[in-house]
This record gives sequence, C-alpha cells and structure tokens, in this order.
Amino acid sequence: MELIDGKKIAEEIKREIARKAAEIIDAEQTPPHLAAILVGNDPASETYIASKEKACRAVGFTSSVYRYPAEISEQQLLEVVDFLNTDEEVHGFIVQLPLPRHIDANKVIERINPAKDVDGFHPVNVGRLALGLPSYVPATPAGIVLLLEKYGIETEGKHCVVLGRSNIVGTPVSLLMSRKAVPGNCTVTLCHSKTTNLAEITRQADILIAAIGQPGFVTGDMVKEGVVVVDVGIHRIEDNSEKGYHITGDVDFKSVAPKSSYITPVPGGVGLMTIVSLLLNTLKAYNREIYS
Ligand code: NDP
Repeated sequence: MELIDGKKIAEEIKREIARKAAEIIDAEQTPPHLAAILVGNDPASETYIASKEKACRAVGFTSSVYRYPAEISEQQLLEVVDFLNTDEEVHGFIVQLPLPRHIDANKVIERINPAKDVDGFHPVNVGRLALGLPSYVPATPAGIVLLLEKYGIETEGKHCVVLGRSNIVGTPVSLLMSRKAVPGNCTVTLCHSKTTNLAEITRQADILIAAIGQPGFVTGDMVKEGVVVVDVGIHRIEDNSEKGYHITGDVDFKSVAPKSSYITPVPGGVGLMTIVSLLLNTLKAYNREIYS
C-alpha cells in the first residue's frame, strides 16, 4: 500500500506556480488576481476563504475578498458579479457557496463571465467539460486527477466507481475519468443515494472515488485487493484530544488501506489539492488559456 501524499504534491505545484508568478512580477506585469465574494459568516466558508488568501499570498498572486452581510439582496449580489466580470484588474473570481436561502445560487453562477469562472461552475464551463472542450475544471475534481497523474496511476480501461453525484465533485470527476484522455479513459460507474447493491459495485472498482459526505462509509469489505482509493470526504469529529476534534474522510482508512494499492489519507490527501487547482485555474485565466 502506498499513501498518495497530497501535501507533497501540493507544495511542489505551489512552488512551480510561485516561480511563474515571480517571472510575471519580474517582467513588471501585474500578477494574477483572484477575487472571492463571501456572503454571511458561515465558519467553513470563512476557513476556506482564509486558506485561499494565504495560498495566494504564498505564491505571489493578488487576492481580494468582497464581504457582504447575509442580508444582501440577490440584485445587489448580481451587481457585484457584474462589477467583477468587467474589472480588468481581476482575472478570476469565485462566489463562495452556500449562499443565503433568499438568493438563487444558480442565477448568481450563471451571471459570472465564463472566462473568469475559475471554480468551473458556470453552465458554459460544465458543458464544455462534458463535451471534452477546454474549460475551467472544478478545483476538487481537477486536484484528484492531478494526484492520479503525478503518481503515474494507470487509468485507461480501468473500472472507476465514483460515490456521489454532486455538481462540485462526483459529477465532474466522473466526466474527467471517462473522457478520452489520460488520466481518464475509464469505464465509470456513478453511484448515489438511490443506487442499489452499492457494495457489489464498489467491490468491482479498480479506482474508487468516495465523495458522499458520510464519515467512514467505505469499509474494507466493500473493496477488492489492489484498489486505488481516493477519499474526498472531510469531517470534523469531536474527540477527547487536546484539539478537541480530528479530521476524517468518507473511507474507513483502517480497514480499507491494507487492501489498497494506493490511498489518499485524510487529512493530507485531496483537500490540499483543491486550493492548488484554484490557483492553477487563476493562472490559466491570467494567461487567457481557455477563452482568448
Ligand atoms: P453532497 O452532499 O453535495 O453530495 C453527496 C453525494 O453523495 C450525493 O450525490 C448523494 O446522493 C450521495 N450519497 C449520500 N449518501 C449516500 C449513500 N448512503 N450511498 C450512496 N450515495 C450517497 O457532497 P459533496 O459532493 O459536496 O461533498 C462530498 C464530501 O466531500 C463531503 O464530505 C465534503 O465535505 C467533501 N468535500 C471535500 C472537498 C475537498 O477539498 N477535499 C471539496 C468538496 C467537498 P444523492 O445525489 O442521491 O443525494
């Protein structure tokens, strides 16, 4: 069993991004600028935005956060999106989800200029991904594929089972794993809460990607020997430790790791790749690699 070290890979890629940013700054150009819109004060969103800002600073990108109270109206928020769409100093931006209930998140996402949609959530980017055209790929699925690539894990002709069909992880990662490219070229089975005989399906997986949001859901009896396991889940479990909690994934590491050929740990696996992928998308936006 080999651990897939997301921390090491994330650091390597960040160093490479920092080198590219330094070249831009040395050439007296303005560095890539990633902005975020944050509505309300959801603690998980605050944490994510803080780590995004830290990562931007570490690689030499400009980062800004547009903060608004939860009471902001949908119309006002759409106007902020319009502003960022046309602000030439901002190369890419994200709207942190979830949004308050009175705001239609789909309407807000559809308002983003696809060329600045570095989260890859706009229907144009999702459609382009489905068609195999260049697009911004959502950060977590992009990070998963990068990890498989960096570890030289063979995907062609393999059976990839994805647990979870969310728009931000399960569905886009299933598209990536089935596309005509490497990593990809897998036969993909996408499972969700209505799937019957789930364990029968997961036992057929050469590559298992778990993104269901249930701590320790995948157990050793649900996988075959030699499986490659990618654990996307992040759960904060309270305990009696000094910190008062520990982080765990959707996979029961103890029983699954001994049967795996490769496995991502939680923490230290996929999670660290998400922000790196967002930085890579921002660099693409800066260089107008996808939309000229
Ligand atoms: P969602 O809650 O949006 O989606 C969960 C999916 O899992 C749904 O498709 C749901 O099915 C399916 N599901 C739930 N329970 C079962 C079950 N018992 N059997 C089969 N399928 C089930 O979650 P996300 O995709 O947003 O996130 C998944 C996990 O990944 C979470 O733990 C989250 O914290 C983590 N995450 C980690 C990130 C990272 O950077 N590492 C980034 C984003 C998320 P249905 O569609 O039928 O409801």
